[in-house]
Amino acid sequence: LTGGVIYHDGQFDDARLAIHLAMTADELGAKLVNYVRCVSLIKEDGKVSGIEAMDVESGRSFAIRAGAVINATGVFVDELRRADEPSSEEIVAVSQGVHLVLPKDFLPGDSAIMIPKTADGRVLFAVPWHDRVVLGTTDTPLSEKSLEPRALPEEIDFLMTHAARYLSRDPKPEDVLSVFAGLRPLVKASGNANTASLSRDHTILIGDSGLITITGGKWTTYRKMAEDVIDRAEEVAGLEKVPCRTMELPVHGAVTEEVSDLHLRPYGSDAAAIQSLSGADRVHPALDLTVAEVRWHAREEMARTVEDVLARRSRALLLDARASIEAAPAVAEILAEELGKGAEWRVAQVAHFRALAQGYVFR
Ligand SMILES: Cc1cc2nc3c(=O)[nH]c(=O)nc-3n(C[C@H](O)[C@H](O)[C@H](O)COP(=O)(O)OP(=O)(O)OC[C@H]3O[C@@H](n4cnc5c(N)ncnc54)[C@H](O)[C@@H]3O)c2cc1C
Repeated sequence: LTGGVIYHDGQFDDARLAIHLAMTADELGAKLVNYVRCVSLIKEDGKVSGIEAMDVESGRSFAIRAGAVINATGVFVDELRRADEPSSEEIVAVSQGVHLVLPKDFLPGDSAIMIPKTADGRVLFAVPWHDRVVLGTTDTPLSEKSLEPRALPEEIDFLMTHAARYLSRDPKPEDVLSVFAGLRPLVKASGNANTASLSRDHTILIGDSGLITITGGKWTTYRKMAEDVIDRAEEVAGLEKVPCRTMELPVHGAVTEEVSDLHLRPYGSDAAAIQSLSGADRVHPALDLTVAEVRWHAREEMARTVEDVLARRSRALLLDARASIEAAPAVAEILAEELGKGAEWRVAQVAHFRALAQGYVFR
């Protein structure tokens, strides 16, 4: 080694920010619904005037009327665009990215490492995250879209080979705490005539029916994406134009002084309220997640399932898949108490979570 470069970057917990954004919207008057699927579009005189929605929990269908409908369904935007205009060209190319999670001692210290060029020319990161090390990622074009994507064997091989080359010791399969995959919606180069490409990062399309589609983009640019799409929605719905507030808007949980409890720090200003709830015990010895947090997720964060709590309110599934499987019955019990559910629901929840989480266990 003859030299090195150090640079600074931002880091966050994506699911926590998504939850805090939803809570911010709620506080500003938005009506949030989870576990509701958009099944089809309602049209009047060729214009979209709402959606047919289905409550996935009860199976009940209902209509939601709206002046503007925004299709922000990630890699699935083309399905709704085709429901609107069957001849629509696909605009999304799906790219899968896989991450492996290892114990912290594989990368001691607080700094991440970036490998700018692997043997096949890719960039690779190893980043300290929630007292673990997350290693990624891959960039694999896929033709299939799934709500629960799975890492391919060659993606895992690539990450394991490079982990052995750059980390403090060679990881063995039993060292891997979790393997997870995500799908990036990348905008195809061409688009069509009415494409309004507002930046290199994201694309907004307005169909002849007025259906607004936003896709591409990154977490890094989410405020700009929101501003651009809401500005277009004002035009489509004929609403009064008001300047977007996002630039000055603090997100729910914002604090001026850092929360001293490291584990509760991602909750920001909610940390004190969580601490005041009964249930300081952990749900599993290998996980930081407490009984009080699960209660909080159910009461304040619309958690409806064991998967919500272990994957999207906490990151237990991504931090230690085997421990999260073992924790599932305890979480189901607390949730059942909070949501007024019975034994049958608990058993079904644990079985569903176990089947899902097996896909995160390294084999
Ligand atoms: C591996 C990977 C690494 C990344 N790294 C970075 C990074 O370092 N920095 C960065 O800024 N960004 C990064 N990103 C990008 C960022 O995560 C994406 O911008 C984001 O996931 C796409 O956001 P989205 O809201 O468009 O789609 P999604 O997050 O996919 O959300 C779409 C939602 O729509 C829902 N949905 C789909 N169909 C329907 C329907 N019919 N009815 C109701 N709901 C529906 C889905 O369930 C989903 O919740 C990364 C992405 C991946 C996959």
